Amino acid sequence: MEYEAVIGMEVHVQLNCKSKLFCGCSTDFHAPANTNVCPVCLGMPGAMPVLNREMVNKSVAVGLALNCAISRWSKMDRKNYFYPDQSKNYQISQYDLPLNHGGHLDIHVNGETKRIGITRAHMEEDTARNTHTIGGGQSGVDFNRCGVPLLEIVTEPDIHSADEAYAYLTELKQILQYLDVSDCSMEEGKLRAEANISVRPKGSTAFGTKTEVKNVASFSGTYKAIQYEIARQIQILNDGGTIVQETRGWDDDRGVTFSQRAKESAHDYRYFPEPDLVPIVVDEAWEESIRAALPELPAARRARLTGAFGLSDYDAGVLTATRAMADFYEAAAAKTDPKKAANWIMGDLQALVTEDRAEIGSIPVTPEYLAAMINLIEDGTISGKIAKEVLAEMYRTGKSPAAVVEEKGLVQISDHGAIDAAVAEVIAANPAQVAEFKAGKEKVIGFLVGQIMKATQGKANPKMVNDILRAKLSE
Ligand SMILES: [Zn+2]
Repeated sequence: MEYEAVIGMEVHVQLNCKSKLFCGCSTDFHAPANTNVCPVCLGMPGAMPVLNREMVNKSVAVGLALNCAISRWSKMDRKNYFYPDQSKNYQISQYDLPLNHGGHLDIHVNGETKRIGITRAHMEEDTARNTHTIGGGQSGVDFNRCGVPLLEIVTEPDIHSADEAYAYLTELKQILQYLDVSDCSMEEGKLRAEANISVRPKGSTAFGTKTEVKNVASFSGTYKAIQYEIARQIQILNDGGTIVQETRGWDDDRGVTFSQRAKESAHDYRYFPEPDLVPIVVDEAWEESIRAALPELPAARRARLTGAFGLSDYDAGVLTATRAMADFYEAAAAKTDPKKAANWIMGDLQALVTEDRAEIGSIPVTPEYLAAMINLIEDGTISGKIAKEVLAEMYRTGKSPAAVVEEKGLVQISDHGAIDAAVAEVIAANPAQVAEFKAGKEKVIGFLVGQIMKATQGKANPKMVNDILRAKLSE
């Protein structure tokens, strides 16, 4: 039987608010344990929460970017449970009236565009963090993270493969970073993705029993976990077994998912409206002020760059991967040939940035300097080969291309006489290759050009070298 996977994603993202969701405590991740705490986030009797307005602003911005409807009226609810990492024994979240609902996000997979429905994006507070590594059979609890603002973004079960899940996560993360509402660090737990996965016979519309894979530390891990889980479920069904509804973890070393616990249903949480908080009213004016401040989002920027600069979809995708990259590219493209700027950024410059483990927004080479360097190639001052050397030196020193060329004496040799002499020398020194060329072996020209470039330390104007060489060989 042929099966189809049905996947819904839940992403928890920590928004970069300065203070926690319901109190003034700092959200600094690196503070010593249990220093960012107060009676409110510790849940002391009588402590009253106050909703963080910055969180509402940022959450609405995400909702708008995901094409959601913004609720004019929403509320916070208590989700009751006993967990060792939540001293209040309840978590403040949103249940039946989330802040954002009914949106969608378009993703691109294998040359196709697919629309993934966004069910909701609601605000909630994070729990504390348990540490089981302090030794002596003891565990520690760090309440710094408790009460940190999270946005939970839930999709419709519109995803049907690990590829689509990966594309969704990538696009979502890009949007969150463009909005500058989170740094999305998965290592620090600021972005956590969970996948609800089930399989069903192809053509069927009923849902199969789902499992939930959570606590995966990377997108690639999520991708592999989904692939594994789909195959595992199909195997069980093919063997005549039944899928157990449960939460499963991912073992990256062994490449398998494993059972963690049976899944509670929403009913078990005994939700009820949070009595200490007033409803959240986002009126039209508030929503519009947030919409007006939205930056250009990745999809729009990709489309604009493709149109304005004639870039391929692939190039536009790479150059808009981050806002900093897109800003850098646009600043450079404004001052030189946009396609050449694209090639240099994706090629030599990206290689230097990667080697340096740097971010393109904070490198010594400015977009203006890169453009000026490309223009030096265009006007024949330096060769493309020399430009690589110039770029590396610019990266090392932060100097302008003109200064580097001047200091290192890298100006291209475009003097006819000088090149003529170098060509004559190389022809005289390589009689065998010259004979081969004359016998019709066209490829040898590359070798001869290489020798001439070597003799001139790469400074000879390549076009002139080619012209003069061919002229002399046909004499
Ligand atoms: Zn607090």
